[in-house]
Order: sequence, then C-alpha cells, then structure tokens
Amino acid sequence: MEWMMYIDGKWTKGEKEKTFETLNPYNGSHLADIYESSEQDTLDAIEAANYSFYKDRSWRDMDSQTRGDILLKIADILEMRKAEFARLEVLDNGKPLREAECDVDDAVHNFRYYASLIKAPHGGVYEVNEGFGKMHSYTVHEPTGVCALITPWNYPLLMGVWKLAPALAAGNSVIFKPSPYCVLSSIKLFEIFDEVGIPKGACNLLIGGAKVGNILSGSMDVDMITFTGSTKAGQMVMMNAASNVKKIGLELGGKSPNVIFADADLEGAVEWAMLGIFLNQGQICSAGSRILVEEKFHDEFVKRLIERANNITLGNPMNNPDMGPIVNEIQMNRVLEYIEAGKAEGAKCVAGGYRYLDGECKDGYFIKPTIFDECTNDMRIVKEEIFGPAVTIQTFKTEEEAIEMANDSPYGLAGAVFTADGARALRVIKEIRAGITWINCYNPCFNEAPWGGYKMSGIGRELGVHGLEEYQEIKQININLNPGKVGWYEH
Ligand code: NAD
Repeated sequence: MEWMMYIDGKWTKGEKEKTFETLNPYNGSHLADIYESSEQDTLDAIEAANYSFYKDRSWRDMDSQTRGDILLKIADILEMRKAEFARLEVLDNGKPLREAECDVDDAVHNFRYYASLIKAPHGGVYEVNEGFGKMHSYTVHEPTGVCALITPWNYPLLMGVWKLAPALAAGNSVIFKPSPYCVLSSIKLFEIFDEVGIPKGACNLLIGGAKVGNILSGSMDVDMITFTGSTKAGQMVMMNAASNVKKIGLELGGKSPNVIFADADLEGAVEWAMLGIFLNQGQICSAGSRILVEEKFHDEFVKRLIERANNITLGNPMNNPDMGPIVNEIQMNRVLEYIEAGKAEGAKCVAGGYRYLDGECKDGYFIKPTIFDECTNDMRIVKEEIFGPAVTIQTFKTEEEAIEMANDSPYGLAGAVFTADGARALRVIKEIRAGITWINCYNPCFNEAPWGGYKMSGIGRELGVHGLEEYQEIKQININLNPGKVGWYEH
C-alpha cells in the first residue's frame, strides 16, 4: 500500500512525491515509506479547508443529526476494523497490543460520544430586562471555521481522534497533522473518512513535522489551532498563532506528582504508581513521574516498587509483554541521556537505568524500567519531562511539605494522592495545581471528563462537553420583545 496524504477529498503523493522511512521500533526493520507534505501541499490543504468552510459549506451546513450519523458510521467501521488498527499501532509505535486495542476502543467511544453531543445541542435562553426593555437573549454554538489539528506520536490514533471527533462534530473544516513518527493509523482513519463521504475539503491530512506545523500555526487563513505536544513547540505555536489571533488549544507536557501517604494501601499504591509511570513505556503526558512518598513509608514502598519494576517483562509488543520498546531511536537516546544525567547529578538509580538488549529485544529500542531514589528538586530528572520509563522518588514529612513539593514545577497537567484518610485526600487534591487529578488511582481517563493542564501544561480542555466547545464559537442573539420601543431613551 502507498502511504499518502489526503487533500481536498483526494489521496495524493504531494507536490514533490518525496518519501521518508518509518521503522518498527521492536526490531528496527523497515515498516513503510510515507509521502511527505511540502509547503505547497500545506497551502493547498489550507485553501481546500477554506473553500469547504466558507464557500461549499456542505459539512458546516449539514444538519447536526446527519453529521452525527456520519460520526457514528466512522465509529462502527473503526470498531469493525479494530484488529487491523491495533496491529498497525503496535508495529508503528511499539505499545503492547492490549494497550493498542484499548486505544481503538477509546477512539470508537470518542466518535460516538461527540456524535451524541452534537445530536443534542445545548444552549441557554434568558429573559432579560435591564434598562433596554424586555428582551430574550439566547446563545447558539457555531463552528469556529478552519481548524488545524497537530498531534504527537505517543497515542497516534487516540490523540488525533480527541481532536478530530469534536472538531468535525461541530461542523468545522479541518487540517490534521499527526507526528511524522507515527502516521500509519491516521492514514487508515482517513480511509474511513473518505468511505463515509465527508464532503471534500472538510477533512485534510498532511504529513510532516515542524515545518508544516509552522505554516499552519502562522497562516492567516486558519481560524483555530489545537496542538498536543511538548511545551517548547507549544510556545512556538502560540507565538505564531498571534498572526491572526487564532483561537488556540494547547495540550502540553507534564511532570506530575504522585503523592503517597504512609496510611495508603501498600499494594494498591505500588500497582497504581507502576501504571502511572510505566504504562505506554512512560510516554504519557500525565505520567506520575515524580513520586513523593511520606518518609516513614519510604523503605517499605520503594522496596516493593523495585521488586515490581524488576519483574516487568519486555519483548515483542505483539505478544503483550508488560512493556514494549520506545517509539524510535532518537526518543530512546533522549531518555537514556536523562538517565545518565540523573546518575551524574547524584540520584540513586535503584532499578533499571540502561538500554535493554537481551534476547528478542536485541535490535529494538527498549529501556529497562528505571527508578531513581534520593532525588532532590534541583535535579534535571526531577524538573524536566523525561517522557519515558523513568521515575524519581523524593520524601516528605508533612502534608504541607507534600503540597509544596507537588506544586514546585512549572507544569500542572496531572497529579494524584494515595491515602486512607478521605478528608486529607480532598484537601491535598484541592491544593494541587493541575487539571487532571486522581485519588487512590493513577491515569484512568474518560471521554466525559475534561482533559487539560494548568500552568505550562496548556490552555483549554479536550474531551467532555468542554472539548466540543473548544471547537465552537458561542454567539449571543438578543431579541427585543417590544419592536418599536427603544428602551435606552425612556429612562
Ligand atoms: P513535539 O512537540 O515534538 O511534537 C508534537 C507535534 O508538533 C508533532 O506533530 C510535531 O511534528 C509538531 N511540531 C513540532 N514542532 C512544531 C512547531 N514549531 N510548530 C508546529 N508543530 C510542531 O512532541 P512529541 O515528542 O511528538 O510528543 C511528546 C510531547 O507531547 C510530550 O511533551 C507530552 O507531554 C506531550 N503530550 C501532551 C498531551 C496532553 O494531553 N497534554 C498528550 C500527549 C502528549
């Protein structure tokens, strides 16, 4: 099969017909050659989306029941092709098969969720009487316009769907640019968009990196940009978006605290902490990458955590080991560099800390699950997002100290607290400056619950009703109930 971009309702190899290679991270073997979008291809996609939204209008003006039905059809086809999508995601990204299958399930539910929201639109009607006479004021939600959607590689299908489903449900025309590291499932998803008959120009797929992203974020003909990725790239997007004061959504990095008190259930806290940091090979924005444990619980907790981390199985992700490889060599080296920095800064590496090359892992990009103990807040591994299977451990003595340490980060994406004391759990969670929080668990995520960060972790929310409103403009319409009367002069 040829892996192409999709512009104005057509599959294309692009202006330059230039390809790049993508490898299977499990064994470094060739996986696919993918056509890359040029500047001209990007401009073509912007033009097609503009024509679709402002001239053709067939997607935007389609009644919301029919638009919702199309989203439901997408969900049905995706569900039918679950095995194919999951397999592709494993080959391209390296995540274990069962995790890829969950991602496809979540993507299916996401399309269904936003289909249901758009089929039951919400809004408010208010009767007002404030100096201007009696009026009715009501709100309507309208699509924002041409939306550029940029996503990372850690959940290639799901991160795309989190944006595509609400943006399309709202009636926008979109230009989607996934990370060039993992594009295969996005190309397959656009096959489904093509099959269900989304009008041409309403959904476009570009393939490329920062260059394409920069054109999209700076374009005067893009009304909104939503970006999921690193904080550094997000800052560039934000600056570029100022060109025409684009509506903007940013889902950025994190360095999230996982606060564990001594009264927590030991096994529960250890298992959730494992899931918090080693799920998806630690390549999760919300990863619980800073464990803060009460001093008197430290030895018991860390001993058990090390035992569990050392027992993690690594191998061919198709065979469902606990962990697969890191997405590619560049990313693996980036994580290894952090691990070396941690050792050099004096953190005590008590588990893992190296590239794993045993047995079937010999040609892949595997990293042994890594735990650093005796960490301090000035270390790079505590301050910066590693985005891999490496966690730091620090201790605290009091609740106040735990809260202070938890918030001592420029990031504010997620956080959790483990304790048997309900009141304390609520007190601590209330104080944590983060958008996604958990009590006695780590990392569960639901379509209904808004997802997003405080501080340098982002702007806006995905998922939930908020996730739809991000792609809508809200208009107020005010109606004078006594035509002919001008309230102002009568006072
Ligand atoms: P990245 O910032 O390198 O790239 C993300 C996307 O942006 C890619 O599509 C990339 O091609 C594009 N891009 C890069 N530079 C750009 C620029 N200057 N202008 C426009 N687009 C640009 O991030 P990554 O390595 O792909 O992903 C990992 C990062 O994503 C981590 O920081 C992680 O925390 C974050 N992330 C956040 C969330 C969230 O919901 N907050 C979810 C997943 C990942």
